[in-house]
Amino acid sequence: MTFLPVTPPGQTPLRVMTIAGSDSGGGAGIQADLRTFALLGVHGLVAVTAVTVQNSMGVKGFHEIPLDVIAGQIEAVASDIGLQAAKTGMLASSEILATIADAWRNQGLAGTVPLVVDPVCASMHGDPLLHPTGLDAYRTELFPLATLITPNLDEVRLLVDIEVVDSHSQHEAARALHALGPQWALVKGGHLRSSPNSPDLLFDGTEFYAFDATRVETGHDHGAGDTLAAAIASALAHGYRVPDAVAFGKRWVTECLRAAYPLGHGHGPVSALFRLGS
Ligand code: PLP
Repeated sequence: MTFLPVTPPGQTPLRVMTIAGSDSGGGAGIQADLRTFALLGVHGLVAVTAVTVQNSMGVKGFHEIPLDVIAGQIEAVASDIGLQAAKTGMLASSEILATIADAWRNQGLAGTVPLVVDPVCASMHGDPLLHPTGLDAYRTELFPLATLITPNLDEVRLLVDIEVVDSHSQHEAARALHALGPQWALVKGGHLRSSPNSPDLLFDGTEFYAFDATRVETGHDHGAGDTLAAAIASALAHGYRVPDAVAFGKRWVTECLRAAYPLGHGHGPVSALFRLGS
């Protein structure tokens, strides 16, 4: 695959921020985002929202970072270093969601810096990563600020109460999600077990764009959603149009799935390390 343009050594690369949770197992969350940023040649900035106690078997618990510290991280880097795109991951609570929306607006980032919102609700093991009141905060606070939202099918069901089982219901879900205010909605089809492929559907309120990739059969797909959103944000920072950024992100996460490795006793992570060659 073709990667993103790389900045020569000694010159400042584009900066992309992840606003997300830490995964102590290093497979998902901020750790996955920073790996993708680094291996795509962008400088990663971080606003930690929560620290999870996690390994390959699941999430044992998490600690939320105080709201002023979350807002402070965004303000500190935006006012000094500057950023060309951002993505969100685990945001844990409606209060954290509202804090991020406020900070995003207060720093003048709304409408100027592309924002990818991956509405993380639970881990692949079903452990909750979002308080139930956070769903409404996504709908009302963060989606209207988003350039793109990237829910998986479980998140689609929670957000708009649509069970995606085929192409027709996937289109219906894309319309319902777009109506919540993001510029673009991507309904990820990776969990559509009826399909041998992983069909994603993108919608901007007018046109639909379909992205297909052969499903990579692996038991190790921890962090796939984070990695996709981080790659899309990196491409947006480079000025890619949203459909081109999504196509790029899909190719990237497919390669990361092919390179996924076992870790611990449970689910291993997708791996951006393939980019280093062998
Ligand atoms: N832990 C953190 C901190 C995350 O941000 C995420 C996903 O965004 C997960 C766990 C869940 O990842 P997965 O669904 O791949 O297990």
